[in-house]
Amino acid sequence: MSTSPVFFAGLDIGGTTVKSVLIDGEGELVGEMVEVRSHVKNGYEATFAQLESALDQLTGSSGVRRDQIAGVGLDVPAPSSEGVIWAQANLGSDWVGTNVRDLFSERIGGIPVYMTNDGNAAALGEYAVRKKHFGSLLLVAPGTGLGGGFVLPGGRAWEGANGLALEVGHISIPHREEDGSLPQCSCGKLGCLEAWVSLVALRRRVAIELAKPENAAHPLNDGTPVEEKAFRLREFAERRDDLAIGIFRQQGNLLGYGLADLVRVFDPGLVVIGGGLAETGFRDQYLEWIYQGFRERAWPVYLNSPIHPEQITTVFEWATGGDAAAAVGVAFAARERFS
Ligand SMILES: [Zn+2]
Repeated sequence: MSTSPVFFAGLDIGGTTVKSVLIDGEGELVGEMVEVRSHVKNGYEATFAQLESALDQLTGSSGVRRDQIAGVGLDVPAPSSEGVIWAQANLGSDWVGTNVRDLFSERIGGIPVYMTNDGNAAALGEYAVRKKHFGSLLLVAPGTGLGGGFVLPGGRAWEGANGLALEVGHISIPHREEDGSLPQCSCGKLGCLEAWVSLVALRRRVAIELAKPENAAHPLNDGTPVEEKAFRLREFAERRDDLAIGIFRQQGNLLGYGLADLVRVFDPGLVVIGGGLAETGFRDQYLEWIYQGFRERAWPVYLNSPIHPEQITTVFEWATGGDAAAAVGVAFAARERFS
């Protein structure tokens, strides 16, 4: 008797699109990533229809039948526990308090569904693409905010007792603005890492720097909206502009401060830096700024072994999973659970 091959799908629900992949029982990607609109603001039913469309495209183009899918991984841009979302962030209000994991599983004929948040999913994805890495892995991903995740040896994300672990963007950073103030974070608290390392932070920092008399003649002081200025800061840094370099140097240093604390807690061995910075022309320098901050705050033992000094105790790498990382991550998590 021959057994029919099984497959696992990963569906990464973002604020605007759903990125989706299919893997086989061996963990190999099948076909291409499929991307559809997420419609998350229109309520979860609207998104479910999009997820089904993505599943149909994935299976249709690969000649796989729906009943060959043995598990689905799902990730959402919000904190959740056991399939229930706790806070809405960018989602429509009906997502909160609903067991979207179980409802979606029912909708697709009872295929088991694993669900987590986007930071954990991206960390799982970086773990999955490093086929020769078997230890743990800590991911931090600066974007609009600052997400992250921690994967245990063997490939399970540490999600905490309530699914609330690894809110890496909201650890406290011992640094103040020049006027002595602590920056306001998007979470409502003061002095969080995310208030220094995110696109939101860049907007505040660039406004502060451009208001200084010595920067009055800077080309960004031209009436460009502040959102646009923050975006353009990267190209200025690539051109070695002093103001842009200063802002990113501070950001990298303070990310190093945060990582020093996280590494002291988790001792991950491998730290992966995700987010858009991985694609910038000054990323080598940015990594050096992270090291600077890390060396300032972490004990030497977290850099090199005191017994074998050639042994590096914390390796830093850029993310390599690309756009599909989170979808791949939850597909692998589904395979790990439902094989
Ligand atoms: Zn915060």
